[in-house]
Amino acid sequence: MTNTLYDALIAPHASNNGPFLECDDGTTLSYAGFVRRVAQLANVLKDAGVAPGDRIVVQAPKLADTIALYGAAVQSGAVYLPLNTAYTQAEMSYFLEDAEPKVIVCDSKDEAAISGIQTDVKATVLTLVSDGTGSLASAADAAPEQFDTIARGPDDLAALLYTSGTTGRSKGAMLSHKNLLSNAQSLTNLWEITNKDRLIHALPIFHTHGLFVAMNTCLLAGARLRFMAAFKPDVIIEELPKSTMLMGVPTFYTRLLDDPRLTKELCAHMRLFVSGSAPLLSETHTAFSDRTGHRILERYGMTETNMITSNPYSGDRIEGTVGYALPGTEVEITNPDTGLPIPTGEIGMIEVRGDNVFQGYWKMPEKTAEELRDTGFFITGDLGVKTEDGRISIVGRQKDLIISGGYNIYPKEIEDVINDVDGVLESAVFGVPHPDFGESVLAAVILEAGASLDSDCIAEKVEPLLARFKHPRRYILIDALPRNTMGKVQKNVLREEYST
Ligand code: ATP
Ligand code: MG
Repeated sequence: MTNTLYDALIAPHASNNGPFLECDDGTTLSYAGFVRRVAQLANVLKDAGVAPGDRIVVQAPKLADTIALYGAAVQSGAVYLPLNTAYTQAEMSYFLEDAEPKVIVCDSKDEAAISGIQTDVKATVLTLVSDGTGSLASAADAAPEQFDTIARGPDDLAALLYTSGTTGRSKGAMLSHKNLLSNAQSLTNLWEITNKDRLIHALPIFHTHGLFVAMNTCLLAGARLRFMAAFKPDVIIEELPKSTMLMGVPTFYTRLLDDPRLTKELCAHMRLFVSGSAPLLSETHTAFSDRTGHRILERYGMTETNMITSNPYSGDRIEGTVGYALPGTEVEITNPDTGLPIPTGEIGMIEVRGDNVFQGYWKMPEKTAEELRDTGFFITGDLGVKTEDGRISIVGRQKDLIISGGYNIYPKEIEDVINDVDGVLESAVFGVPHPDFGESVLAAVILEAGASLDSDCIAEKVEPLLARFKHPRRYILIDALPRNTMGKVQKNVLREEYST
């Protein structure tokens, strides 16, 4: 019986007694123990009537059992569907109605609310609590440690992962066994991950970064993980000397840089720091390499495509760029209006093709047809530029592009200038409707603690560096940028709030 993902990621570890997950409570789950737990959970899913292709919704704490549940969904031929633990009941109603799961696993504190959400499919609700208890865990404890793996091929669905909802409502991306496995193979090879590695895992496991980039590569390589329920700088500082890799979002790195204990000596045992999910500022990249001697490796990807590009492992990692297309993945930059190729060095739409590209949006055939070409290229919605030698830089999302008086204005260019002003912590530049120009440029600015700049001071510093049509019409000083639950800046919220 073959099952593409299970056979590659989990089955090979059946008699591997090496460590897999080292948890916050000091316990370590071995690889072989993991394989047995996966089988126990697969038996629980089977008892709940799960058939191949059924969705298993998981809104649960970050536990070893949650990862084993992912393995169990794969082994039982089901479709794993993790959801952000920050989603409210109203948001959960949308996801449950959309996904029609057969089983829902949630924290016991949410059980009543989730059971109350009516869907067409009556799902079995099981619980998983952060202390390791719950109805799912106890049913698994009593279940056999063997399970007859359900056959699944490369094109069968393994996961349904909703996008982060930065630009609008989250969409369900259908990911096949091949989509996930091919990407795990590319990244494991490129980043040279082996069973000698120990990854500090402090990302959430309901998103492509923490779940697929981190977990699938380590499973493939047999690496061990220091599996942290949440990002805590104190714990990271403690773990760095005992580890070899860290995967993080840019805020991990800015927060580590805030800690004077972060030094070259502390990171002497580390071999790789990866950043992604949002742009890493050049200043962060430079400050980190000055302090630790490590150049953060930035990569680019999205829920729909897994990872697309990466800076090289051996070779120059250039700040502000996301590197080269992964092996087996093609990246084209096209004219956003016509879809035709444009000259190298010009800004255009990033399109991607390869085994990593998803099977379409769940229950959204029209949206799928709009974004996934017959040729297999997926239109990412991100604008970027490619150099002669194939390095990609992200310029921003097409939805955030500002068109004013016929000019294309890229917010990132203006944000970079504003962020360089002394006393500015960060900024978000966005367009609002303007009767004459189509749109006009506004900037939301967050100051560093204790800084006392006003709009005029910022304008004075910024304007000499930018052409007049790019000057923000207003600088709005606010306390914090609106972010979604993944920490990504929501420019649609700013646009709505400041459109007059
Ligand atoms: P939605 O599609 O629901 O609006 P989202 O696009 O934020 O949300 P994700 O799939 O989690 O959902 O994020 C993918 C996006 O994150 C990419 O399209 C890109 O805009 C951004 N991104 C990822 N990595 C990087 C990076 N290294 N630099 C800049 N942007 C990045
Ligand atoms: Mg997106």
